[in-house]
Order: sequence, then structure tokens, then C-alpha cells
Amino acid sequence: MKTGVLALQGSFYDHVQSLEFIDQDYVLIKDTSDLSHVNSLILPGGESTSMIKIQENNDLFSELKKLIESGIPTLGTCAGLILLAKDVIDGETSLGVLNTVVERNAYGRQNQSFEGLVNLLGNKEMYCFIRAPKILSYEDSVTPIATIDNEVVGVIENNIVGLSFHPELTNDKNYLDWLSNFIKDGVNVRSL
Ligand code: GLN
Repeated sequence: MKTGVLALQGSFYDHVQSLEFIDQDYVLIKDTSDLSHVNSLILPGGESTSMIKIQENNDLFSELKKLIESGIPTLGTCAGLILLAKDVIDGETSLGVLNTVVERNAYGRQNQSFEGLVNLLGNKEMYCFIRAPKILSYEDSVTPIATIDNEVVGVIENNIVGLSFHPELTNDKNYLDWLSNFIKDGVNVRSL
């Protein structure tokens, strides 16, 4: 059982550290050859436009899409959420597997990045929003799992979770417990 962490660009090492905290084996994904034996996935924050560009001349994203559609637990944070979304305002749709509309950089520029108190599945924790995307809307098949004030900042649809913030920079116990459960059994993700 290995978690594949997309490692084209961005904050993939922070996710690796979360996986080390929960004793989960992982592999860094830079190429399609890294995808064998992967049965859960993490798409990190970073710059979605750069990630899309880096892999544009190979079939990494089409293979990733097949893997996600096969039903393996998949978590995308920030840029990772943008990669997952079906519709992207001010950006490009890439994997398009999560029935949401997101808007890139919707909270403002880098210096408007902030920490906020997020309710993630009933637990409140301070998390970072770094040039984060906003979740503008989602289909009925999508369930909110994280909110800040009354705004939805995290969703789940079947095996896919998208968060606009960075729990991997906080690594609080609730997040790590949730991650551990999610990786083992994506469908039971809501039972913390
Ligand atoms: N603004 C970035 C993008 O558009 C996302 C920022 C992040 O992942 N922290 O991809």
C-alpha cells in the first residue's frame, strides 16, 4: 500500500511529512512509471499552471485521471483542488474529476494569504490559506466537509477530497487521524 504524492512542483514534501507521521509508505510521482502499486493519491499545493505545463508533453495526467476514476482515495490541497475541479475560473481545467467550480487566487494576492479557523468534519483548527482557490459551487453529488465562517472550503465526492487550505502545514492530530482513515478506506472518510 503506497500513497502517491504528485511531485512535479510545489509543497509535496509537506505531505510526505504528514505521511511519515502516520507511518504510511509513499512514492513521489514525477512520471507514469511511478504510478504502479499506488493505491491512494495526494495532489499538493503549489502552482497549478506550472504543474499543468510541466506534464503537458506526456500522459501523466491522463493516467492519474484513470487511477482516480478507479476509486482510490484522492486528496487535493489548494493547487491540488484546482487540478481536480471540473471547472476553473481564471485557470485551466486539467483532471476534471471533482464536480465543483473553483476560482483561482480568489482570496487575493500572496500578501493577502491568511490563517483561519476551519471546521473540518466537526473539529476546529487554524489552517493556512495561501493564494487559495474559492469553491464557488458544486453538484449534488458533492458534500461539504470543511467550512470557514459559512463558506465551504473543503468537499468530498465519492473517493475524492478537495481542500482549499493546507492541513499538511499544521499536521494536527485530527487531520492526521482523518488522513490515516481516508487512505485506508476512502469511502469511510466522514467517520473521523
Ligand atoms: N494560486 C495557486 C494556483 O493557482 C494555488 C496556491 C497554493 O497551492 N497554495 O495554483
